[in-house]
Amino acid sequence: MAYKVVIATRSFGSTSDRPAQILAEAGCELIKVDINKATDAEYAAALQEADAAIVGSRPITAEMIGVTHKLKVICMHGVGVDHINRDAAQARGVIVANCPGANSDGVADLTLGLMLAVARRIPHYMQALQRGEWGHAVGVEIWQKTLGLIGLGRIGRGVAERAAGFRMRVLVCDPYLTPAAIAAIGAHPTDLATVLADADFVSLHAPATPETRQLINRDTLRHMKPTAYLINTARGDLVDEAALYEALTTGVIAGAALDVYSAEPPGAMPLLKLPNVVATPHIGAHSREATTNASVLAAQNVAHVLQTGDALWKVA
Ligand code: NAD
Repeated sequence: MAYKVVIATRSFGSTSDRPAQILAEAGCELIKVDINKATDAEYAAALQEADAAIVGSRPITAEMIGVTHKLKVICMHGVGVDHINRDAAQARGVIVANCPGANSDGVADLTLGLMLAVARRIPHYMQALQRGEWGHAVGVEIWQKTLGLIGLGRIGRGVAERAAGFRMRVLVCDPYLTPAAIAAIGAHPTDLATVLADADFVSLHAPATPETRQLINRDTLRHMKPTAYLINTARGDLVDEAALYEALTTGVIAGAALDVYSAEPPGAMPLLKLPNVVATPHIGAHSREATTNASVLAAQNVAHVLQTGDALWKVA
């Protein structure tokens, strides 16, 4: 085989043979790294000998990139690339690529699922029932409520489309879109302060950047309604988790639903034990459909880089 391609994500190819076929046809040998067991040194050693890598959300540091000598592309098996040191990649001429839109529907579905789960405390009632308890407390509906979206990219739009089915009023803060573009999908363009103050559910769909880091903090949480819920299926870095814990235990907001954490896995994080929190282990993209899409797009992307020197989809 002409090329070695490190596969450092467990879901690559798990729902279809097509992605492996695409890489085989491009002359690639697949080197699988068990990302849950490999040490950083083992991961770095695999990358060192690779021509390309298809990766998940485990961090790839400047040191790991620095020892590679023929790596041409690191392709995220998904969208967010904030865990890959892009400066180091650029310095070494390594393309950082991703699969835009591959998993948007999976994440948008999960976002609605988390909203319903936290509003009606579905997981907590199931656990109580499993313990033989039969308790009832009053939850809230999402029907005709106000949804505030921070970020209206592919996932945010998917959430807005689904929210229309619940006749939600959708407010959007996305400084990189024109008000006309936001209004065109039937949502209301506004600023962060208005989203926080008016929304019954605030849902995060912006990338992790220096600008969005801890966008939700002690100060911004205090702008939310005490009856409001925070949903985060974007990135853990967008939220100051200590401030969120404080807000949830002192009645500043009503609840939160989280799929992502500042450190993953988050371990025994106090937030996860709160009764007004619903949490999932970064499963937004883990639908059968999204997994197939991401694997096919990642394989096509890597094959294209190896054959032409450029990516079909790369991160600017
Ligand atoms: P996208 O690039 O299509 O959209 C991101 C949007 O955020 C853009 O419209 C951009 O203008 C906007 N934005 C940027 N900075 C902003 C700011 N300061 N305030 C408000 N909006 C801002 O990305 P996407 O595919 O919709 O993904 C969105 C997020 O979801 C990313 O953080 C990604 O990492 C995350 N994600 C999570 C999962 C998961 O499994 N939970 C899976 C895929 C993506």
